[in-house]
Amino acid sequence: MFVCMRPNATSDHVKRVQAEVLAAGFNKAIVTAGTEVSVVNCLGTVSHEQKLRLKDFFLSLPGVTDVELAKTPFRLTARQAHPDEFTVQINGISIGGNQPLVVMAGPCAVESLEQITASANAVKQAGAVVLRGGAYKPRTSPHLFQGLEERGLRFLAQARQETGLPIVTEVTSLENVALVAEHADILQIGTRNMQNFGLLRAVGRIDKPVILKRGMAATIDEWLQAAEYIVSEGNQRVILCARGIRTFDNGHTRNSADIDAIPVVKGLTHHPVIFDPSHTAGNRDLVPDIALAAVAAGADGLLIEVHPDPDSALCDGAQSLNPQQFAGLMIKVKAVANAIGRAA
Ligand code: PEP
Ligand code: MN
Repeated sequence: MFVCMRPNATSDHVKRVQAEVLAAGFNKAIVTAGTEVSVVNCLGTVSHEQKLRLKDFFLSLPGVTDVELAKTPFRLTARQAHPDEFTVQINGISIGGNQPLVVMAGPCAVESLEQITASANAVKQAGAVVLRGGAYKPRTSPHLFQGLEERGLRFLAQARQETGLPIVTEVTSLENVALVAEHADILQIGTRNMQNFGLLRAVGRIDKPVILKRGMAATIDEWLQAAEYIVSEGNQRVILCARGIRTFDNGHTRNSADIDAIPVVKGLTHHPVIFDPSHTAGNRDLVPDIALAAVAAGADGLLIEVHPDPDSALCDGAQSLNPQQFAGLMIKVKAVANAIGRAA
């Protein structure tokens, strides 16, 4: 339930509402203070009937303009919970809202210092503003390259120092959250861990943005509830990343492009939504078309795999663009973004 305050409501009015919300049996009354209006987000297991009964009472309190019963299972990430434009800030870059499209790019995995610095320089030159690269790789088989782990994090940090690009890297388990957070600017939760609730809570206690990828078989509601886990621990800086989902037809692509999730999720939540065409496609020839479609559909950013020599990549080479292909795609990305009125 959301209690919306009038623009002229005082802080005493808000405090009174919070007290009454708790007295009515809710566990939490979280206030989002916007520039115009504040919203009190009422969290807890209060029945729908009880909320209906409480609605008139809250409407009668001074400073209250509206009471909305949430129709969805998410609360903190719901658009109603955040009246103002919401962006995630990272090193002077704003992601979401009406901000320019943000492109994050780099190899699937960090393989060596030379490979990650070459990738960083190439993607920066083409216009990417965040460097990606996995140090802990969640591979389907234990016999495949698992990532350079801590050494990979250090190489990423060196690439950041050389290029100035902030870095995003995946955190795969509870025990490496602190170490990854020490080096990374943005933490990534991969598709396989979208419902690893302990891990979600742990990154919710870290003061760094988190990219939460959609589970490959997760519904949109499940994905947003996973985001709720992170936000409920206090970390609001969640960026949602669609990356393709499993369907009956994944013979020609690795996943089916859930481009529709972009406008749907942007309608439901204020959090930024980015798109990963690489894991969607599984094939570098398909990456540009899918990336452009995601931009046209309103994605706030892209996460793209780029490798200096894709054919020698230790992970996901088939879907990785080489630097020339990436530079060519970036020109089209800008054109499509501009065509829908977005800077890039
Ligand atoms: C990745 O970004 O390299 C990755 C493993 O992504 P996903 O979790 O979407 O498969
Ligand atoms: Mn990958």
